[in-house]
Amino acid sequence: MQELLINIKNANKSQELYKKACELMPGGVNSPVRSFKAVELEPLFISKAKGQYLWDVDQNKYLDFVGSWGALIHGHIPDSIQEAVQNALAKGTSFGAPHEDEIELAQIITESFPSIKKIRLVNSGTEAIMTAIRLSRAYTKRNKIIKFSGCYHGHADVVLSMSSSGISTLGLPGSAGITKNTVSETITLPFNDISTTEITLSKYPKEIAAILVEPVIGNCGVIPPSTAFLKALKELATKHKCVLIFDEVITGFRLAKGGAQAIYDIMPDLTTLGKIIGGGMPIGAVGGKKEIMDLLAPIGPVYQAGTLSGNPISVACGLATIKLLKDETYIYLENMTEHLCKEIKKINEENNIKAQVNNIGSMFSIFFTDTKVCDYTTAKKSNTQKFAKFFQNMLSQGIYLAPSQFEANFISTAFKEEDINYTLEAYKKSILEI
Ligand SMILES: *Cc1c(COP(=O)(O)O)cnc(C)c1O
Repeated sequence: MQELLINIKNANKSQELYKKACELMPGGVNSPVRSFKAVELEPLFISKAKGQYLWDVDQNKYLDFVGSWGALIHGHIPDSIQEAVQNALAKGTSFGAPHEDEIELAQIITESFPSIKKIRLVNSGTEAIMTAIRLSRAYTKRNKIIKFSGCYHGHADVVLSMSSSGISTLGLPGSAGITKNTVSETITLPFNDISTTEITLSKYPKEIAAILVEPVIGNCGVIPPSTAFLKALKELATKHKCVLIFDEVITGFRLAKGGAQAIYDIMPDLTTLGKIIGGGMPIGAVGGKKEIMDLLAPIGPVYQAGTLSGNPISVACGLATIKLLKDETYIYLENMTEHLCKEIKKINEENNIKAQVNNIGSMFSIFFTDTKVCDYTTAKKSNTQKFAKFFQNMLSQGIYLAPSQFEANFISTAFKEEDINYTLEAYKKSILEI
């Protein structure tokens, strides 16, 4: 493990590039969570990535727990995925017409998710959610949407009020530039709380089009649901005839081949996917019941379109990624993550560190609070100052964690046992210094 023991030599080139980037791009970044603002640093500019590692422009090497925000379940560009992408590229970058690989991806997804009978590919998770909401409203002929605080559903206007991810990271209440009318039909309720959902549904009979939820929250740090909560959402959606949408953009193919819905054994009406199904290339998907999906144009009245939808490179990359996923993959990932989290908890106990470790499958978060984290309110109790210091300490030892308390860390199949052991060594040092 000697080769990993690289302290950050310097960040001169990153600093230089950041200055230049800030002149040309707002905040120097193309997505706000990359700015490292919450961890009181300037972002590192990455020059290459392979396996479990990232290299910055100053030649520092990092063990990568971000994995492009969960998209890279096999780490960075394993050979078989590289080959698949290169083969696809040689045939063209975009056809603007149907192609055979779209059918194969649709087939694999529908086989993995029994709740998905038909699917449409889009270009991002955000687009998938937009379409899922439009479909729900058209199908139910109702307007209101129930969602839950701490969940993030992309950056479309309707779902951005009281959202999480970068919104929580930057301490924002939502976003400017969104009219009151746009969000007047969006109701945000506490996660893991059945009674408020029950009350709200009774308060607005026949007005709720959809209940939208991340079945396992990944965008407020990791927050698993209570099984009773998810089951209640299913029962309530059925009883009140609203569409149950599982946003599995992170959890789809991450927690199991069939996503969180397979683990909790619940069939939603619609599912949104993204991240892993593109293996690091831009993609998104919405799928579900035939009678809802068939409302989409060209056969139905709900319009949705995309110049690059079903892009052959994204589809090839996604297919190659999914094909590498076996039952053993999930056992390997879970064992590794469980081992890491168990040891972290042990270190915390031995050193009297007040922290909560949440983990499920290959996702985990560390919150600096003595309260159990089960929703947005308890996540917010975490000491973000402590987190920032902890993040900096880990980074200086070559561990690249999610740069926010309100984002998940991911383990990929590229991780080896020695990576976990190295991380634990670094953790011990980092935690004792804060
Ligand atoms: C990442 C994410 C989105 C948004 O996907 P983009 O591709 O970034 O637009 C939506 N929902 C969840 C649960 C996500 O994690």
